[in-house]
Amino acid sequence: MASISLRKVVKRYGTGPKANPVIHGVDAEIADGEFIVIVGPSGCGKSTLLRMVAGLEEISDGEIAIGPRVVNELEPSERDIAMVFQNYALYPHMSVYDNMAYGLKIQRLPLEQIRQRVEKAAGILELGHLLERKPRQLSGGQRQRVAMGRAIVREPQVFLFDEPLSNLDAKLRVQTRLEIQKLHRELGITSLFVTHDQVEAMTLAQRMIVMNAGRMEQFGTPDEVYARP
Ligand code: ADP
Ligand code: ADP
Repeated sequence: MASISLRKVVKRYGTGPKANPVIHGVDAEIADGEFIVIVGPSGCGKSTLLRMVAGLEEISDGEIAIGPRVVNELEPSERDIAMVFQNYALYPHMSVYDNMAYGLKIQRLPLEQIRQRVEKAAGILELGHLLERKPRQLSGGQRQRVAMGRAIVREPQVFLFDEPLSNLDAKLRVQTRLEIQKLHRELGITSLFVTHDQVEAMTLAQRMIVMNAGRMEQFGTPDEVYARP
């Protein structure tokens, strides 16, 4: 687990006089283990902010620290994060176990350690009885849990969620939201969750960052944010 500091973070796409910032100096201190939702209308800069934390987008100005480490110059692989997207792609020819173990095998973790991590994640996600199945033999909700399992086994310091619920039908959306809440309760990993959906934000957030046109307009608990006139 780790804190996240955003210090006067600015993003401009491109260079030269036409490169207007799309993020205008965002400042926020996120504590170890917090679940933060970044919410705002389409185009306000949510994904850009998340992608800068992930190292998928260069930081134009200011800095981002994860724990004590300023990550501006680090490669994505050097940041201890896992990102969960809206479109989960599992490897269709691999078992559930192998889908979850794959990233760890690439990292050359000892097989015994891989087994322990996959079994622990499978326990939390109630996938223990499905480890030998192929993705096509799973329900939509089970597939989703495998995709989250793949993120958990890496034991990251930070989870980043980019609109993971937005392509799901209503039932699966609720199910997955509960699953994410359970994960956070059990693992307590510092999380940034991006959505344009205010109800989703209110339901999930411990604190929320409200973005508008590249600026952070509010940062507080849902009660604090919605109490304002
Ligand atoms: P959100 O996630 O809130 O929908 P984005 O972070 O995707 O917002 O986009 C913020 C702004 O930056 C938008 O105006 C978008 O058009 C612009 N933008 C995003 N990615 C790029 C890019 N690669 N090049 C230029 N402009 C971009
Ligand atoms: P989202 O809102 O989910 O981020 P977008 O359609 O805004 O999706 O962006 C999809 C992709 O296109 C992203 O990789 C983003 O960086 C890029 N993009 C968005 N806006 C622009 C833009 N104005 N110019 C170039 N690339 C952009």
